[in-house]
Amino acid sequence: MPGRWSEVARSVGLLQADGVMSPTIFTEMSALAVATDSANLGQGFPDEEGPLWVREIAVQAILQGSNQYPPLRGIAALREAVSAHQHTHYGISLNPDTEVLVTAGATEALTAAILALTGTGDEVVTLEPFYDSHAAAIAMSGATHKTVPLIPQEDGFRLDRDALRATVNEKTRVILVNTPHNPTGTVLSHEELTLIAEEAERFDAIVITDEVYEHLLYDGATHVPFATLDGMFDRTLTVSSAGKTFSLTGWKIGWITGPALLLERVLAVKQYLTFSGGAPFQPAIARALTDGAEDIATLRQTLDRRRASLIKWLTDAGFHTVRPEGTYFVCADASPFLSSEITDGADFARWLPGAIGVACVPLSAFCREGSATAELLKNWVRFTFVKDDRTLETARERLLALRPS
Ligand SMILES: *Cc1c(COP(=O)(O)O)cnc(C)c1O
Repeated sequence: MPGRWSEVARSVGLLQADGVMSPTIFTEMSALAVATDSANLGQGFPDEEGPLWVREIAVQAILQGSNQYPPLRGIAALREAVSAHQHTHYGISLNPDTEVLVTAGATEALTAAILALTGTGDEVVTLEPFYDSHAAAIAMSGATHKTVPLIPQEDGFRLDRDALRATVNEKTRVILVNTPHNPTGTVLSHEELTLIAEEAERFDAIVITDEVYEHLLYDGATHVPFATLDGMFDRTLTVSSAGKTFSLTGWKIGWITGPALLLERVLAVKQYLTFSGGAPFQPAIARALTDGAEDIATLRQTLDRRRASLIKWLTDAGFHTVRPEGTYFVCADASPFLSSEITDGADFARWLPGAIGVACVPLSAFCREGSATAELLKNWVRFTFVKDDRTLETARERLLALRPS
């Protein structure tokens, strides 16, 4: 039975036979984008800086001496701000001393939670497609990764309900939910979340939810934190981060919230991953969460405008798209552009930068190799609209060249 991380990583394709890290499609596409001087709509990080006033607080914190290890759980001001944020937005009451933990981004929170709660013999269920670090963390824990497809429909990528019922079972230790969802942009409906809650309850599974796009919603969509569903608080760990909400992805300030007993177990792992970090950024994010509502609203408006533009340009160019209700991303079916040489979304993504100077990523990069979902989505690609107007305008002109004449 594969036990060591390196063996597991090889078995799921994260490492090559010689132990060297497998290059991801993201690295490959970014290199291609640079080599072809493409408008890079592949990688999903913001072109623009976060709010100046928030950055100034971090500068002051450095000058005034916030430069040594912050407390293991995070500074009190940030834990209190996270607690207040959850209460103001969602009516969730959290004790900042025992039910909030500051982490090195959402990534550390997710990895620590998965390592703390699962191991060999357990199953972890995620949606598919899925964010790449989710699969890596599950592999590190030694647990088996099971997936439930999101299927493209007129009203978004929707949960495959039958697959959910068929997949969750007594071996399921954790169900990992991500809403708003990367890469599809889906915001899971209350009904979809309720179905997941029923399965979690039936098999006594813990739910970890990745809510890093909680504020990036469009078309009047609302974010329902899983922890607010009937009876779910006690079995839910909620993960979020300042990266996407404030366009400060390089600061790596995240948090995980939930019942004290579960958090205690996460803390035991987190203590030996990073212990703590981001000393000068923590007070800045505390203030951003408290006073940043206007900045969040402005970001959402800007992204909403860019989302509408990108959907229109992709549609004009001849793609079929699914309208995302949240996140940074639009997914598009590249089938109209396939040929005997360009046979799927991965080929298309490799071809597009050289052909017209625009980069995207294939959805197969977010699927398990050979899975039913990978097959279903093999012609799909993801474009991001979290880019500045100049990059987007360049992409617009170039995408027009694709249009079948
Ligand atoms: C960006 C992203 C993360 C990582 O968040 P950090 O705070 O940068 O660690 C986690 N989950 C999803 C779905 C993301 O898109």
